[in-house]
Amino acid sequence: MSDHAKIRLYVDHPLAEGERVALSRDQAHYLFGVMRQRVGDQVALFNGKDGEWRAEVVEAGKRAGVLTCLAQTRLLQPPPDLWLLFAPIKKARTDFIVEKAAELGAARILPVQTDFTNTERIRRDRLQAHAIEAAEQCGGTYVPEVAELQRLDQALSNWPEDRHLIFADEALVAAKAALEAAPAGEKWAILIGPEGGFSPAERDRLTALPFVTPISLGPRILRADTAAVAALTLFQATRGDWG
Ligand code: SAM
Repeated sequence: MSDHAKIRLYVDHPLAEGERVALSRDQAHYLFGVMRQRVGDQVALFNGKDGEWRAEVVEAGKRAGVLTCLAQTRLLQPPPDLWLLFAPIKKARTDFIVEKAAELGAARILPVQTDFTNTERIRRDRLQAHAIEAAEQCGGTYVPEVAELQRLDQALSNWPEDRHLIFADEALVAAKAALEAAPAGEKWAILIGPEGGFSPAERDRLTALPFVTPISLGPRILRADTAAVAALTLFQATRGDWG
C-alpha cells in the first residue's frame, strides 16, 4: 500500500496480527461508498493504543464490512502529558479548538465552565468525534480524550499536585510573563478562558495556587481559539515534542 494513498481509520477495537475488525455502518459507508475500497484493498487502522496497523478488506458491503490486521506499521506515539483546559465558546469555534488541540498534541482535552463562560453545555460525543477525525487526518496514532464539561473550580479543587498549570492570563497582555518561568516537569496543563476572559475572583484564586504559572500570549488580545493554538504551539516548541 503506497503511503500517499493511505486511508487511515480509527477503530475502537483491539489491533493485533490476524485480528478481524468489524466496521460500523458509517465506517463501511465511508470506506466502500465514499472511498470506493474493495475486497483485497488495504487501509491503515489505529485505535489510540496499539499503534497503526495495515489491514486488508475481507468483506465489503453497503452497511458493514470486515478487515483483517496484517502487520503493525507504526508504534503508538503518545504526545507529551499535556492537558488543554478551555472554556467553551460558540459551537464552530469550540469544534475548532478541539480539532487543533488533537493535531497539536494535547493528551487530554477538558472543557471547563468559568465565571464568564456563556455556554451551559457541550456535546461531548461530537467533540470526541472531531478529535478522532483530526487524528485520522494528521497521521496521529493517539487520540486525546475529551472530558465532560466541568466547572473550573471543581477541576482546580481536584487538581493532581504533580501537574503544572500554565494559565494564559489576558491581564498579562502587555507584560513580560513567559513560559520560561514555569518549573521543569513532565505533567502539564494549559488553561484558556472564554470570550469574556477570567473574573477577578478566578484570577486571584489561580495566581495564588502553587502549581500555576501565569503567562502572556503577547501584546495583543487573542480570540480564545487563537489563544489555544498559540499556547499549544508555544508549549510544544519549547517544552513539548517538536524539539
Ligand atoms: N475579554 C478579554 C479581554 O478583553 O481582556 C479577552 C479574553 S480572550 C478573548 C480569551 C482567552 O484567551 C483569555 O481568557 C486568555 O486565556 C487567552 N488570551 C487571549 N489573549 C491573551 C494574551 N495576550 N495573553 C494571555 N492570554 C491571552
